[in-house]
Amino acid sequence: MIPQSAQYLLRFDDLCPTVSRERWQHCRSLIEEFRLQPILAIIPDNQDPELQVSPPNPQFWDEMRAMQAAKATIGLHGYRHLCASGSRSLVPLQDASEFAGVPVEIQRLWIHEGMRMLREQGLNASIWVAPRHGFDANTLRVLRAEGIKLLSDGLIPRPFLRDGLIWIPQQLWAPVEKPSGLWTICVHPNAASDAQIADLRVFLRSHVQQITSVDRALADALPNEPSIVERIDETLASWRIRTARAKKRLQGSVRKHVAYQTS
Ligand SMILES: [Zn+2]
Repeated sequence: MIPQSAQYLLRFDDLCPTVSRERWQHCRSLIEEFRLQPILAIIPDNQDPELQVSPPNPQFWDEMRAMQAAKATIGLHGYRHLCASGSRSLVPLQDASEFAGVPVEIQRLWIHEGMRMLREQGLNASIWVAPRHGFDANTLRVLRAEGIKLLSDGLIPRPFLRDGLIWIPQQLWAPVEKPSGLWTICVHPNAASDAQIADLRVFLRSHVQQITSVDRALADALPNEPSIVERIDETLASWRIRTARAKKRLQGSVRKHVAYQTS
């Protein structure tokens, strides 16, 4: 049966041994306190210097295995998180991508090797989480060939079928009250401030009955192709997100300019 009230799924991004130890600890305490079964978006071989925040944690892979055993869903978060391609993604929310526009043979190599590295750590990735929402039709072709059937992205508020994969939508980066539908809240542990974690804790406390997992969301759903109305709503939602981000970037550069002028 499809639940009437909104359901919320948590996703933690950019996980790798050098994730901020302190910030990740705050996220872990939320996962334990609320017995969350989130998506853990793990980078198999992180080479992104921006994500080398703490010295490599020797316990990291043990922690991931323990969370998998506690029913977290393991996500393949790209390969090395080096977003050097400027090609347009099927989910065009950001400009740079690790995968979109990269030749299919290289994508195949990266995804195959990423899966192998996670398997070597005892982790079975079942969902694709593209760095910066960046992927193309070739990525989806490779994922299908590698046996990955799920993808965490898209803005339609229910699991849906597109290009031969089941999409679990991901639309929020902070808790927002919604009347119905499935909403994934994406948290970046490296960047999550104390105030953001506190907000999330308050939200989780008051919505504890509405927190779901990938398995439960799929059990509740009958994923099919989106309707025309859903596709129009998705395009509008994408436009709103891009506009809000552009506005934020503009405000940031104006602030910097003013600070420079007045310093
Ligand atoms: Zn990322």
